[in-house]
Order: sequence, then structure tokens, then C-alpha cells
Amino acid sequence: MIVAERKPVSEIRDLIAPHDRVLFLGCGTCVTVCMAGGAREVSLMAAVVRMAAELGGRTGLVIEEATVERQCEILFLDPIAEQAAGYDAICSFGCGAGVQHVAARLPQTPVHPGLDTQFLGVLEGDGVWAERCAGCGSCRLAEFSGLCPIARCAKRLLNGPCGGSQVGRCEIDPALPCAWQLIYERARAVGALDRLQGVAEVQEWGKALDGGPRRVVRGDQSIADLRR
Ligand code: SF4
Ligand code: SF4
Repeated sequence: MIVAERKPVSEIRDLIAPHDRVLFLGCGTCVTVCMAGGAREVSLMAAVVRMAAELGGRTGLVIEEATVERQCEILFLDPIAEQAAGYDAICSFGCGAGVQHVAARLPQTPVHPGLDTQFLGVLEGDGVWAERCAGCGSCRLAEFSGLCPIARCAKRLLNGPCGGSQVGRCEIDPALPCAWQLIYERARAVGALDRLQGVAEVQEWGKALDGGPRRVVRGDQSIADLRR
């Protein structure tokens, strides 16, 4: 899932300060699962921002709430487009992609982000989400027994550990396991240590964000393509 965090209340209050009627718009998918931008979080944030505005002496601010299934799909935004005329601005609690999709659907309406989008990750434990994929565009998991050194090694090393780990913890952040310790242990457990013997090829970073904005084009999913 895409993992995000709520922005501080004071930041959201300041973002919406120029507006009198604001729609707080949640997203029902990834950011609901990571408890940052679903219906419940939007409702809580709306209440807290209303209170913060009142305590700051602001009157006349109206914040209403709605949540769509997915802000990253235009079909789910159509009902909001009809509603949007009634608001001066929208504060989107989707990920960064969702915020931009809402803005594209509503070209005349200011759209502000309510979240700080973090990474692609998993729920690792109670209230703990951890990064697992950096979206490099050229997946190497098969070489590393299913553990990603790009997302999980602090130095993104592809050819073994840096040598700085202590009792299996990363030297950059001892709160995290050394990714290469995990890779070695898993490779041993699944009988794939031989895959770690050679020199790993250089990563094709041109497929990562460093190569500019990316798109995935699937001709087989296009109606125009099916009609041919
Ligand atoms: S190798 Fe790339 S695509 Fe695969 S998990 Fe790591 S960052 Fe993600
Ligand atoms: S200690 Fe392990 S995870 Fe941390 S930077 Fe070195 S090799 Fe990477």
C-alpha cells in the first residue's frame, strides 16, 4: 500500500486559512488502511481543525467531509465534481497522486494536500508501517530471495553488506534490521545462497524516478486497442 502521514493540524489550518467553505476529502483505499486519510481520520481532522480555527479567533469557517473509494480513479471523482461548486477549496486526504488527480478533475478549485505521502510499504506491527518497495521500475527481488536492498538497505547496496552492521542491526539506524543480514538468512533458508555468489548487475536507474516522470501503458487495456 501507499503509506502516508497526516500533516500537523497547524499546517492544515494555515493551508485552508484563505477559504470559508472547505471540503475535507478522504480516500477509501491505501490511506484508509494506514489510518491517515480515511473517513474516520477525515472526520477527526475536521473536528480538530474547526476547533483550532475557533480557538484562533476565526469565525464563519465551514468544513464538510466526504470520502471516495479511490481518489486515483477519475470515475470515483465525478460525484465530488458536482459537489465541488459549493466549496471554496478542497483539502484532499489522498496520497500525492490522489491530490493531483482531484486537482486535475477540478481545474477551477484550489486543492490542498492534507497528508505527507511517505512510501510503498506494509503493516509491520501494531501502528508500525515499513517501507518495502521504492518503485525502481526494474524489480530485482528474484536475485535477493524476495527482499529488496534498494528499499531496505540504507545504502542501497546490491553486492552485499557494508560491514557496519552490529548484531544484525543497520549501522545507519539500529532500529532497523540490516537488510543484507535478512537477505542472507532468507537465501540460506530457501537454498538460494548460490544466487548471492556472483556480482549483481548495475541497476537500471533510468526506469526509476531519476529518469523523469513515468507511465505504464497497457495497449491490451485500451478500448481503442480492443476495437482494432
Ligand atoms: S527491486 Fe525495485 S520494484 Fe522490486 S521491490 Fe525493490 S524497489 Fe521495488
Ligand atoms: S548495515 Fe546493512 S542495511 Fe545498513 S547500510 Fe549496511 S548493509 Fe545496508
